[in-house]
Amino acid sequence: MAYQSLKGFRDILPEESPRWRRLEETIRSLMRRGGYGEVRLPIVEATELFARGVGEGTDIVGKEMYSFLDRSDPPESITLRPELTAGAARAFVQHSMMQVQPVTKWFYIGPMFRYEHPQAGRYRQFHQFGLELYGSPHPEADAEVIVMGMELLHELGIENFRLRLNSIGTPEERIGYRAALLAYLHAHVGELSEDSVRRMDTNPLRVLDSKREEDIRATANAPHIMDALGDESRGHFERVQQLLAAAGVGYTLDHRLVRGLDYYTRTAFEFQGLDLGAQDALGGGGRYDGLIEQIGGRATPAIGFSFGMERLLIAMENAGKSAGPEPETDIYVVGLDDDSRRWAFTQTMELRRQGFAADCDVLRRSLKAQMREANRRGARLAVIVGGSELEARHAQVKDLAEGVQHGIAFDDLGGELRHMLERASSPQQGTADPAAPGPISAS
Ligand code: AMP
Repeated sequence: MAYQSLKGFRDILPEESPRWRRLEETIRSLMRRGGYGEVRLPIVEATELFARGVGEGTDIVGKEMYSFLDRSDPPESITLRPELTAGAARAFVQHSMMQVQPVTKWFYIGPMFRYEHPQAGRYRQFHQFGLELYGSPHPEADAEVIVMGMELLHELGIENFRLRLNSIGTPEERIGYRAALLAYLHAHVGELSEDSVRRMDTNPLRVLDSKREEDIRATANAPHIMDALGDESRGHFERVQQLLAAAGVGYTLDHRLVRGLDYYTRTAFEFQGLDLGAQDALGGGGRYDGLIEQIGGRATPAIGFSFGMERLLIAMENAGKSAGPEPETDIYVVGLDDDSRRWAFTQTMELRRQGFAADCDVLRRSLKAQMREANRRGARLAVIVGGSELEARHAQVKDLAEGVQHGIAFDDLGGELRHMLERASSPQQGTADPAAPGPISAS
């Protein structure tokens, strides 16, 4: 049996790449305007980093990591990164960024790996775009990060989503809340899903996050975390909301949006796609003032988010904002016999040097077949040369969209081709049969 890619791992072929490129270019442009520097970090890290940095009680660490022992002696457990907040925090500490500048703004784009059950919008290798803002404990940082997420969706043309917002306070504030919630859950244990019952003692907040009907019903009257917050956390959250309102950002307060990890603090948010089916989280994030210290750095406030790029692409497609295919080549150079093929080859290389997207035949095909190929590749112009053209140092240049053809001296070729391509702003199909060769023959 021929090899297949592993379950949950996808190939991205050239016809899909323009969509990815458009997404990445939009991200990079926005990040540049926002003052975020790109980090490119290792795909693997020590397993211990994720155990501490993501948390032992999470699904990611508990059952989704690709971890294995390397060949060192004694062997070290290493893990394909399931997310990048922990890796970025590790790099932030390792490179002493706190001593370099008071505020550090980073973004990343790249593959992540989680052993999950694959389905539409959920893969085992997927890609995230994320950003992190280190150094500020203030609501201005929260608002900036959330607005960057909004701006991205806006620039991608994605409108069918909701921003859910909550504050989960500080770890100290959560101690009392956790106890109250646990008491409530124990009183309603018969109504909860099996998953939630299993989860509730280790991570009761996560029960609120469950999407199962029975859990939503059972927790309808559960205590709200907002009621457990002190003045400082409330003031922080109010200020975040004021700033979002001032920036024209709409949001929905959602007390069920929780992040059940100890180092998460205060603001939590999620961009929920409304036409994505079951896997509807476009992206999410929050403040994590405890993480840097947790992994051995000096306590540093931070906030960030990450978006799933496959899901952004699905949402762009749903919004009709996906990038269409690009023409593979602008100019196809056709040679008819041995000598003119050699000319076509060297001319193609020269045109590429001059900045054109140019190509020529490598299958020694007939004129007709080469013209058909030029057309299939979306070329706007065909440069056709046979024995008599070589002798006269004149090429026939055919506009494949309009079907017209005329002779151009070799010496003027680069300039003329540029001129013709500029005039033809976009490749279109002409009415004449573009594959039909002009009045030219091999001599
Ligand atoms: P998380 O780190 O779990 O908060 O995930 C951040 C974002 O990454 C989610 O909102 C999704 O858009 C995306 N994501 C997470 N897991 C997967 C996956 N297995 N396949 C595709 N996208 C994912």
